[in-house]
Amino acid sequence: MSETQAIEQVLVLVKPDGVARGLIGQVIGRAEARGYKVARLELRQATAELLAEHYAEHAAKPFYPALVEYMTAGPVVAMVLEGAQVITAFRAMAGATDPVKAAPGTIRGDFGRDWGTGEIQNIVHASDSPESAAREIAIWFPEA
Ligand code: UDP
Ligand code: MG
Repeated sequence: MSETQAIEQVLVLVKPDGVARGLIGQVIGRAEARGYKVARLELRQATAELLAEHYAEHAAKPFYPALVEYMTAGPVVAMVLEGAQVITAFRAMAGATDPVKAAPGTIRGDFGRDWGTGEIQNIVHASDSPESAAREIAIWFPEA
């Protein structure tokens, strides 16, 4: 077990569908079971302004209005997980964006489905690179 890897942080959100369905504990539990540290944790209501920063890369996409409606439908749990290679590991644990295609064993593949709505409801968000993790953590936890 190498301890020479740089410690990474990743932003994870339990999205409004995950909170409403009682899956906060499942997400945190899987991160803890894997051995990652919960460095920050907060229940909060996302605003359209905050999401415009968070999802800036998607602002011009046709699904963006539905995505904002989904992400503001109720509170989210924002957290920072910490550990060597946690970004890669947690993206793998989240699974494919579309829960229909997400592999069983992943969060999206175990708890998600197509609800017949326009947007893709998929329980969790996770930063996809060190650059996006740093950017997203600064958006959600500016005091950090
Ligand atoms: N999304 C959607 N429709 C699409 C693509 C994405 O509603 O066709 C939503 C979905 O909730 C997804 C989020 O927008 O998680 C961000 O999309 P991205 O492609 O970055 O997927 P992720 O990084 O979350 O896997
Ligand atoms: Mg993404």
